[in-house]
Amino acid sequence: MFDKILIANRGEIALRIQRACRELGIKTVAVHSEADKEAKYVKLADESVCIGPAASSQSYLNIPAVISAAEVTDAEAIHPGYGFLSENADFAERVEQSGFVFIGPRAETIRLMGDKVSAKDTMKKAGVPCVPGSDGALPDDPAEIIRIAKHIGYPVIIKAAGGGGGRGMRVVHTEAALISSVNMTKAEAQAAFGNPVVYMEKFLEQPRHIEIQILSDQHGNAIYLGERDCSMQRRHQKVLEEAPAPGISTRLRDKIGQRCADACKRINYRGAGTFEFLYENNEFYFIEMNTRVQVEHPVTEMITGVDIVQEQIRVAYGEKLRLRQKDIQFRGHAIECRINAEDPYTFVPSPGRISTFHMPGGPGIRVDTHAYQNYMVPPHYDSMIGKLIAYGDTREQAIARMNIALSEMVVEGIKTNVALHRDLMNDAAFQLGETSIHYLENKLGIHAK
Ligand code: ADP
Repeated sequence: MFDKILIANRGEIALRIQRACRELGIKTVAVHSEADKEAKYVKLADESVCIGPAASSQSYLNIPAVISAAEVTDAEAIHPGYGFLSENADFAERVEQSGFVFIGPRAETIRLMGDKVSAKDTMKKAGVPCVPGSDGALPDDPAEIIRIAKHIGYPVIIKAAGGGGGRGMRVVHTEAALISSVNMTKAEAQAAFGNPVVYMEKFLEQPRHIEIQILSDQHGNAIYLGERDCSMQRRHQKVLEEAPAPGISTRLRDKIGQRCADACKRINYRGAGTFEFLYENNEFYFIEMNTRVQVEHPVTEMITGVDIVQEQIRVAYGEKLRLRQKDIQFRGHAIECRINAEDPYTFVPSPGRISTFHMPGGPGIRVDTHAYQNYMVPPHYDSMIGKLIAYGDTREQAIARMNIALSEMVVEGIKTNVALHRDLMNDAAFQLGETSIHYLENKLGIHAK
């Protein structure tokens, strides 16, 4: 096994990866910005290296700084976590060219999946069902664009090939708005992602977001770890997630899961990954693949007993998957609430010092957080300060446990979205498991862009 791994990330996922390493007997190197130097998880690592000032462009996104930190500490591999450099193919390439192992897929796979047009094309060829839409990138000719939209049928959604994080998308309801919307999305895509290519999809009206977790090794083996429902979203960003997805039959899960595992074998995928789908009228439609560990991976860990981060590391080391599909048993139900430092209803970030911090516990409760009493939530990064996960034998029990856990949780000195989660646990539609991706925004009275 690796002797030492550098963790190129911060916050709760940096701590989560440290824990996996420690259990595997691997030493850890934490890299951090000046803003994170006092964080306890940085002190917990065997070694730490400051890689730059607070701004992530100069620290967590600074490729040469991360690679030299690995060089000076003699790390053998780099785990990118999620966000930051985790889906940056150039980074993965530089890591491997510098003689380190990138804990994730090969750079060419990241590149293929990072471009949503090529990702969709690849998946279509691999037999994964996709959202009906344009055959690849949209052409320049307005008449042709109008023809494509007519063929798909309104409403349509214009999406940036290089998009991510819920940005670079625009819904179009009428032909009159089409060309200006395409042009605006192109301009935005160029500015935000340096890539003006856009494509078109049918805009599904009431879908759920359901995704499949997979694990794949370098020896041609791939398995699926079931699905997660992440329909509760605001501005295309997930707020809470659960596994399994309410109402999905074993037969349907196995069918779509097997398709994903087969696609992984076909593209020679390495590591953990997620196939994201929209689900409507009992059909799955692929939208994109995430080639990294996801924020919501714990709900899958809770119902399968598989440590996804440890398996990522084993696969990156070159081991064969220890698990076969028949070894994967789905048991019980798990829900994750993302705890953010923000106003629960306006969503305005609320960084600052945490004056009181008390975390819940008890049967089935898992808390993944790097925060603690007196921790200073820096204003420079994502507002997520942790994740509260509740497991139960049934969905009802998981909700009941989550409700109790949320009532026990105390975070003072900053605002958090705990009140919103308490509201959601008691929401009748959520309790029935019938919410679409638009449900939360409708409930909050915000209209999707
Ligand atoms: P990103 O990479 O930015 O997360 P995705 O392609 O995964 O982009 O889409 C994010 C979210 O946008 C989805 O979970 C869904 O809420 C919405 N969305 C994307 N495509 C469609 C579509 N064709 N119809 C309806 N909603 C969509």
